[in-house]
Amino acid sequence: MRFLTNSKLEFCHSSSGRVKKKLCIYLGVKSLYLFVSCFYLSFFLTRANGPSRPSLNVGESSFDIKKISEDNSFNHYVLVEFFSSQGNVELAKRTVQFHHHRQTCSMVITILKWVKSGDASTASGESNKIERVKLKSCTFMSVLLQFDSNRLKHLREQIHGYTVKTSFDSNVYVVTGLVDMYAKCKCVLEAEYLFKMMPEGKNHVTWTTMVTGYSQNGYGFKAIRCFGDMRVEGVESNQYTFPSVLTACASVSALVFGAQVHGCIIRSGFGANAYVRSALVDMYLELYDSWVLGCAFTVFNHMQDKDVISWTSLVTGCAHNGSFEEALKYFCDMRIAGICPDQIVVASILSACAEMTVLEFGRQVHATFLKSGLESSLSVDNSLVMMYAKCGSIEDANRVFDSMQVRDVITWTALIVGYAKNGRGKDSLQFYDQMLASGTKPDAITFIGLLFACSHAGLVENARHYFQSMNKVYGIKPGPEHYACMIDLLGRSGKLVEAKELLDEMVVEPDATVWKAFLAACRVHGNLELGERAAKNLFELEPKNAMPYVLLSNMYSAAGKWDAAARIRKLMKSRRISKEPGCSWIELNSQVHTFMSEDRGHPRTADIYSKIDEIMLLIKEAGYVPDMSFALHDMDVEGKELGLAYHSEKLAVAFALLTVPSGAPIRIFKNLRVCGDCHTAMKYISGVYGRHIILRDSNRFHHFREGKCSCGDYW
Ligand SMILES: [Zn+2]
Ligand SMILES: [Zn+2]
Repeated sequence: MRFLTNSKLEFCHSSSGRVKKKLCIYLGVKSLYLFVSCFYLSFFLTRANGPSRPSLNVGESSFDIKKISEDNSFNHYVLVEFFSSQGNVELAKRTVQFHHHRQTCSMVITILKWVKSGDASTASGESNKIERVKLKSCTFMSVLLQFDSNRLKHLREQIHGYTVKTSFDSNVYVVTGLVDMYAKCKCVLEAEYLFKMMPEGKNHVTWTTMVTGYSQNGYGFKAIRCFGDMRVEGVESNQYTFPSVLTACASVSALVFGAQVHGCIIRSGFGANAYVRSALVDMYLELYDSWVLGCAFTVFNHMQDKDVISWTSLVTGCAHNGSFEEALKYFCDMRIAGICPDQIVVASILSACAEMTVLEFGRQVHATFLKSGLESSLSVDNSLVMMYAKCGSIEDANRVFDSMQVRDVITWTALIVGYAKNGRGKDSLQFYDQMLASGTKPDAITFIGLLFACSHAGLVENARHYFQSMNKVYGIKPGPEHYACMIDLLGRSGKLVEAKELLDEMVVEPDATVWKAFLAACRVHGNLELGERAAKNLFELEPKNAMPYVLLSNMYSAAGKWDAAARIRKLMKSRRISKEPGCSWIELNSQVHTFMSEDRGHPRTADIYSKIDEIMLLIKEAGYVPDMSFALHDMDVEGKELGLAYHSEKLAVAFALLTVPSGAPIRIFKNLRVCGDCHTAMKYISGVYGRHIILRDSNRFHHFREGKCSCGDYW
């Protein structure tokens, strides 16, 4: 009977929604004078008081306080504590009255009050009085359970000392409480020592406490070993043991062991437990690769009670691991299943939208969230600003920004980077000044935004100033990205010598981004010698990247060194490196339409190609001349011109002109940099058709309006 009752209670921590019902069961059981160990009551009520605290109105008639508390001071104490925390002062007071160890009880409560308020000296003073009172082991437990911070070292040791003096250090509950206390205070060695020195009779709670202690303090391997020892000793695991050991497996990438634990979970009948399943999904997502992801989905699909927690862990896990498409898909499934997304899911799905630049989807998520009536959080607002900015809708980003009551460095930085990438460098710098005026300090990413803004607006002096102030004023050491931005800027402004000096001065090892910026600068200035050096470094750093081969070969051709150019192309071929194919896409009614160059796979191919003919005719009349230098070499003039006309971004814009209602902006995305001919064509198209075309290439946004581009033909 005792076992049954305890297991029942153990299960009830899992579903806080059902706590009220379970408490009544417990109290009912209690009034029948059945024995339930105090440990379970403490565990139970500590959780009932946790973040998902239920509101509980236990009427006086539903149980007999006197009966519950008179035989056990600990039960008495937890009830008082529970009622006080529920704001039910009357019931708390009455419970105190019934107790025959009133002095003990009030003492513990007083100490706890000070422990909780973090006032160490008062708490210590009060705890000295403990010695004068005879305490029961359970009272210790209740005190120990409160020590989850490291602030009260002195008091912690005092209590430990007192357990030794009073010989409670041989009581398994007390020692388990001590192990838990030390582990929560990050004193793993102390916890480990106590655990190892513990007298006979470690139960599953003791073992679980140690596994959890290791796991939560980053001792993944020790947690796994401890779990193994526990199995060898024949101690059964519970629903808290498994999540802890799974977290440990994830932290040390022990996939095989994790899969074994999964088997163990199934065998011990915990396969259907919601907490254990969520932990399994979390582990598989953490150790993400395609096979593992499959496992995570399988576990998830077999879950019976999928609640907001399990959906959140799946969607957030996918987004966190870069599986943005899956994240979006599961978010839709979650909505279909009727689960209302909370702030955590919304924030992560919005960042997935930002990465995939699916503006319409992001807008829908925003609308759903507004309708849900949930209060917004800083992370949701920040994700919104970032999503709109990254999708090129800087006005919307600004609107969310204006509506925010609280902003942090992430908010400001999202806007600063957003303006910079959308070709509005000066606005970006203005926001930076406002940010400083508001008292927010910039971080490393803010400076990337600022330098990018300067780079694309040709503001060399400002950039130098920001670059220097980074370290001098804010103590932020410039990283490779900051150097890359500076070198890019200097290269564009004709200051190749200064760019080289900066490169040589670098404290950190230059990475591929730096060398790419430097190679591009060398190309602009036709400096073969330095270009070769940059390309050579890139061959090593990014052996599969075609860009340095193409650029270097072009540089040789431009200098009339045909042999050298041919040699590089041959080298590229022998190393089996091919150029990443250009690809453009457009989002329409939450569907993504993708186009490759000369693509004929789209259902509306015929319409698209005849629209291209019309576009070419109209923009040529307006003065457009195809730039053959961007065409393929081995073709006649007509073939070259047609090849140019069917570049992926031109197919995308033709499709957009057919489908996007007039007046609405056209948004196109491209994986590579936009080619010079397409850039010119887009300008003409925006003028002839009177449309606002937003083209995001691999580097930035181009806003084409009335025959002009926001980048000032500088990209
Ligand atoms: Zn093109
Ligand atoms: Zn442009």
